[in-house]
Amino acid sequence: AAAEADQDVVVVGGGPGGYVAAIKAAQLGFKTTCIESRGSLGGTCLNVGCIPSKALLQSSHMYHDAQHNFKSHGVNVGSVSIDLPAMMQQKDKAVTGLTKGIEGLFKKNKVTYVKGYGKITSPNEVTVELLDGGSQTVKGKNIIIATGSAVKGLPGITIDEQKVVSSTGALALKEVPEKLVVIGGGYIGLEMGSVWGRLGSQVTVVEFGDAIVPSMDAEVRKSFQRSLEKQKMKFKLKTKVVKVEENANGGLTLHLEAAEGGSPSTLEANVVLVAAGRTPFTKGLGLEELGVKVDKFGRVEVDHSFKTSVPGVFAIGDVIPGPMLAHKAEEDGVACVELIAGKAGHVNYDTVPGVVYTHPEVASVGKTEEQVKAANIQYRVGKFPFMANSRARSIDDAEGMVKIIADKETDKILGVHIMGPSAGELIHEAVLAMEYGASSEDIARVCHGHPTLSEAVKEAAMATYDKPIHF
Ligand code: FAD
Repeated sequence: AAAEADQDVVVVGGGPGGYVAAIKAAQLGFKTTCIESRGSLGGTCLNVGCIPSKALLQSSHMYHDAQHNFKSHGVNVGSVSIDLPAMMQQKDKAVTGLTKGIEGLFKKNKVTYVKGYGKITSPNEVTVELLDGGSQTVKGKNIIIATGSAVKGLPGITIDEQKVVSSTGALALKEVPEKLVVIGGGYIGLEMGSVWGRLGSQVTVVEFGDAIVPSMDAEVRKSFQRSLEKQKMKFKLKTKVVKVEENANGGLTLHLEAAEGGSPSTLEANVVLVAAGRTPFTKGLGLEELGVKVDKFGRVEVDHSFKTSVPGVFAIGDVIPGPMLAHKAEEDGVACVELIAGKAGHVNYDTVPGVVYTHPEVASVGKTEEQVKAANIQYRVGKFPFMANSRARSIDDAEGMVKIIADKETDKILGVHIMGPSAGELIHEAVLAMEYGASSEDIARVCHGHPTLSEAVKEAAMATYDKPIHF
């Protein structure tokens, strides 16, 4: 079509990186096209990631709360049961509402949406196999690769999305499995494990490494693992799954080995979730023919302004190095387009927060205590337990703590780690503070509303350079 023949910006991929870049580009006055093959916008995050998982985490949390916690608050509800199809429907409603919302935003901002699979056939041309059949060439001065990531498979294990599932299948199980084995102790495995555990599955997490969520501050991680164990999640660390096969009872048998070699063992399951990481997705994009360099992990190499090795071709989000998170992809998208427009665009990867949406939630930003130690930095730690926070006590949700690590000499905040109620919201005070180069005293001297969970952040900050009041 002639209308698309001369675009300023062509974005391949409509996930949080791509759709945000497209909207921002249009807002900056660029003629913009976004190409997406899924048939729906929002990428992994909205369709099979962040959003549906948070919907199921909320529903399963409500069920768990009703069963275990309502009574002590004086609320009696009789017997509580699950309606799984209704739960899935509520999740689907959230997903559809949000993905359609992005289509609306595209219209509002005049982004052209092409539904199909894009291949970059020259530095200013993308050839699209249209979902409706046929193909279309979209020419553009600048091309942004925002093709995201896909589930990483494991040798000896075939994902059928019925019994052996990826996170996508785990978001759509038709019944609650009696036994669920999660391969991989990262945040995705723990979140999905929490969902099905709360709904009644016996959950075992098998992890190759010697710790779950290795990027987490070790002290916080240990409390976190204890908390999950209290919720009856089991862990087999330093263990490798070599094979998964169907057994005579119609279930699955996992063949395990100690990570460092040793006697093999087996584990039974009804459903196995493979959550051993995600890998950049560039299949059929034509990168090799074009000469776009990728690193040994398959990630597209970019410089600090998101330029690939081919002039006019940029890349953002999960497909490039950096934390594989939706909000990081969005920041990449905005900065990349601003740089194309000749403005100053920048993303500070040191202040990208990470959140695990289990209960309690765990959120962090900046360095862990281990990283600070390894860097030979003199530091102080301030901690405040939610047990001593009046709001956490009044809502009877007081597990966890706030931990702030600050430079010993300057008091500059180096890292903040929170496990507890609404940790994923609380962390942003720390993110903002760090972005502004604040000291822990800066946080401590800010008046915080009472009674709020945020006061725990303030008191941990007090504890960093002095003493907290309430502990
Ligand atoms: P993607 O979202 O993967 O989007 C890329 C899009 O490009 C896809 O829709 C794909 O169909 C399309 N595409 C690929 N190739 C082509 C092509 N050649 N032509 C046309 N289209 C193409 N992150 C968080 O920050 N918070 C969370 O809570 C969170 N939860 C998650 C839970 C799960 C279960 C999973 C799997 C992920 C989760 N993530 C979360 C990670 C998050 O989803 C990703 O970091 C984010 O989606 C990356 O955005 P992106 O735009 O780079 O790529």
